[in-house]
Order: sequence, then C-alpha cells, then structure tokens
Amino acid sequence: MEPIKRIHHITAIVGDPNENLKFYRDVLGLRLIKQTVNFDDPGVYHLYFGDHNDTPGTVITFFPWTNDNYGRKGSGQVGRIAFRVPKGSLDSWKEHLIAQDLEVETTQLFGKSTLEFDDIHGLELAIVEGEETAENNEIVGFHGSVLLSRNPAGTKKILTDLMGLTELEVEDQNDHFETVGEEKHHIITEIPPQPRGRFGIGTVHHIAWSVPNMEVLKAWQDKLMGSGFGVTAVRDRNYFNSIYLSEKGNVVFEFATDDPGFDVDEDKDSLGAALKLPEQYEHRREEYETLLPKLDI
Ligand code: ZN
Repeated sequence: MEPIKRIHHITAIVGDPNENLKFYRDVLGLRLIKQTVNFDDPGVYHLYFGDHNDTPGTVITFFPWTNDNYGRKGSGQVGRIAFRVPKGSLDSWKEHLIAQDLEVETTQLFGKSTLEFDDIHGLELAIVEGEETAENNEIVGFHGSVLLSRNPAGTKKILTDLMGLTELEVEDQNDHFETVGEEKHHIITEIPPQPRGRFGIGTVHHIAWSVPNMEVLKAWQDKLMGSGFGVTAVRDRNYFNSIYLSEKGNVVFEFATDDPGFDVDEDKDSLGAALKLPEQYEHRREEYETLLPKLDI
C-alpha cells in the first residue's frame, strides 16, 4: 500500500467566528473556502480555509466556539501548526506579523528558522520557509505540525511502520519525520510527553491524512484495524469521506479522501461565499441561520 503523502487538513477549536475569519483571511491571507456546520454538532460553524486555488494539503478548519470554554494544551493533541511560505519571505512575514501586534519568536523548532506565534485565540502557529521561491509571499500550504503524543514511541511506530513517514536526523530531543509525498510535510513528536491536554478554544482537535479515494480509505481502515487500532466506520463529510482513530499517543488521526472535493456543492470561484449544509440538516437551515453569528465576509 502507498505510504501517506501529505496532510489533508488540520482542525482546531477557536473562539468567535468573525475574529477567526479576520485572522486567517486578513492576517495570514488564506481564503475562506467553505462555511458549513460541525456535522456532529450542527449548532457550531465549521469554517474551512485554504489557499486561493483550493489546493489539497493547504486546508485548516475551525470549530469556532462562542462559549469561552478555553482548552488546555497538552498530550493527546496536535500541537503547533506550521505553514510554509516561499523561500526568501521569512523576514517580510516576521515584519508583517509584528505589525499586526503579534508576539513573534524565531526558533529552530522545525530544524530551520521558524517563526512561532499564536493566533487570536491562543492557537499555536508557526511559519517556515519552503525550498521554492514564488512571485508573492503567500502561504503555500502546511509545512507540518507538532504532535503532543502521550507515547512518542507508539506514535513513531504508526508514523513510520504503517504510514511510511521517514525519520529525519535533527539535533534536538524531539523526533522529526517527513511524509514521502512532494509536499514533504514535517511532523515532530515532542519528547518528553506533556501532561494531558483538554480540548477547548485554542487547541487542535485532530490532524487528517490524505488518501486518494474510498477504495484506498477502506484499505487503510482494514490495515489499521488489523494492526489493533479501534477505527470508526467511514463517515461521509460531504467534501470527503473519513475514518478516525486515536493513535497510541492519544492524538486523534483522521484519514480523509481527496475526492469529491470542496467544489461538490458550489463553484470554485464562489467557494466559501454561502452557508452550505449537508442534506440531513438542510430542512433546519432557518434555525441555523438564526443561531449562527453572521460572518463579515
Ligand atoms: Zn477532520
């Protein structure tokens, strides 16, 4: 079976949806590509951001909670999320973030110069340069993420033995891996494990790995179950199909298909412009439109 080539999406819990929109659209320059609801909790938005071409492997999604229920970062969660920017653009990104009144620290977290900062709701982010230059400085997708595993050895095993990531040589105490796909997404397991986290605003809910289609998704379901993981049934997420599991370090992993994609219910040009509901909730549209805060789009 083909190894996992890249991240499909990462999903985090944040606060006010308009603050979330302003930050990712206006500060980071991403595009809102889908407004829908959390299919498991439809009174909450599910907002998807990607690059302007809706390129796979660039999608970060949010459940914006409006209840002030902040989480605690810790093991059993995805940690800092890193975006990749064109080669030579790190200094201008640093200036830009500082001009937005963000506290920015330059570290070597991803094995090279890394800008570390938090979003408006305390979600930990980073910016790292890629290998390629571009005509503009826009984010080109994920660079990778940290996994706050409760069991770094167990997490390493699923990443390398089952998912085919390569372990990198980096001189720090954390383990570094990268996907074998052309994106070479960089995954770090933090060692030693932190105390256990609690989901809430400012924490990441899960990381999803990309698989091409339903056939391959089912093969992964079999393979993961055969390796002793408790794996969910296939869930229809409208834009992709998914399975979920808690890996040995308690981080929630999702495996999600690239098809059918985000343009299944609206044109590529108007992605994100209107509230999209899955069929099972369409009859309650009026209720959700009243309940959900209006977005300043
Ligand atoms: Zn997901």
